[in-house]
Amino acid sequence: MGGLDGLSVWAEDDLRRKLLWYRQVSANRMPAKFRIAGHIPVEVPLAEAPEEVLWEELEAKTPVFLDLWDRIRRGIDDLPASPRPQPNLVDLCRELSIRMLSHCNFCRWNCRVDRQKGTKFGTCKLAEDSRVSSYFHHPGEELIYRGRLGSGTIFFTSCNMRCAFCQNGDISTDKDNGEVVSARTLATMAWLLRMEGCHNVNWVGGEVTIHLHSIVEAISLLEDLRPNIQDLREALGVKSDYYTSYRRNPEGATYRGAFNAPMLWNSNFFMSAPAMKVLRLLMDVWLPDFKFGPGKCAVNLSRTPWYWETVTGNMQLIHGWGEEFTIRHLVMPNHVECCTRPVLEWIAQTMPDVPVNVMDQFHPDNFCDPSGAKYDKKHEEIARRPTSQEIVQAFRYAKDLGLHFESLSYEKNATGLRLLA
Ligand code: SF4
Repeated sequence: MGGLDGLSVWAEDDLRRKLLWYRQVSANRMPAKFRIAGHIPVEVPLAEAPEEVLWEELEAKTPVFLDLWDRIRRGIDDLPASPRPQPNLVDLCRELSIRMLSHCNFCRWNCRVDRQKGTKFGTCKLAEDSRVSSYFHHPGEELIYRGRLGSGTIFFTSCNMRCAFCQNGDISTDKDNGEVVSARTLATMAWLLRMEGCHNVNWVGGEVTIHLHSIVEAISLLEDLRPNIQDLREALGVKSDYYTSYRRNPEGATYRGAFNAPMLWNSNFFMSAPAMKVLRLLMDVWLPDFKFGPGKCAVNLSRTPWYWETVTGNMQLIHGWGEEFTIRHLVMPNHVECCTRPVLEWIAQTMPDVPVNVMDQFHPDNFCDPSGAKYDKKHEEIARRPTSQEIVQAFRYAKDLGLHFESLSYEKNATGLRLLA
């Protein structure tokens, strides 16, 4: 594998320590959390038990998982040598996400529609099926995620927000984009990317939360997955870098003889509390996208109420849990004072230790692109790129607040660095 460990960015002691678990799993020195959760037995019959009993079991078994995870992390324990119990905590997560689907509360919209029936739709407009638009070795994520062989990125269709400027508008606004995938095909995609050397499995969209059930089921299949010709044929049909030849290297994708990869949750963080409880047991590293300040911008630009309290609440949860994550913030034109500044101030006050990527790549797209067919003049204020003054001001705020942002933000922005100097 084209190791993540050798990257110069890890020379930064601080960054190396903050993403220790992620690096260890990526290098297969540690088992991913889903592998650990698979060794925690659950005591209730999954198919028959009422949903509240399943949640009680999750609450009871989460501390057991955390204890084993902690001992493994500290190097004083390892995965049990015995076969995984049946059912186990991953099975419970899968069952709970399917139960949630029938009164969907995956995200803060809490639409309560039965997506298995598919006769009524929530904000994401989805029924039960999940569609993948593309998947590939992503060369454009932060260096800590893309490494040398790419971040194993799987792009799902549709979204639960309505960002006028969405830079992935083709997949977020078109719920029928891409191909319907089974959980097994999805697992095969993750398996392929990791076998080909990707440093992580990067679940993203559109938005990933709205596909929680499919992702959890795919993860539940990964440990025992041995894709056959049919599985590979179905998965390869959607692979965007199908024509690039990557050598498959099982040794770089296994821990103690079974599939291993860090799971990366790349999300707008508009998740519900129940979804967070499930994801806590399965995600090794998180990538929240923190866009809007506490005013009206989330509603005006994204038609999303409860944005600030939901996203900050979920970030506080993972911070309190001691999870590893980095935050993205996209600088928007005319929104440095109302969005960038309060977002960075909140991070500095609440979690100053967390690395931040202050991103400068905003470009007019989707409903704010004057040259596009979907352009809506009411979004004129963001129908341009940020000026260099706005970008420098954003960097200056981050610097003055003492945030850890240079290593993630400047790697593609020597201009910003020079301007700020
Ligand atoms: S995922 Fe969110 S937006 Fe979609 S139906 Fe469920 S609660 Fe509603």
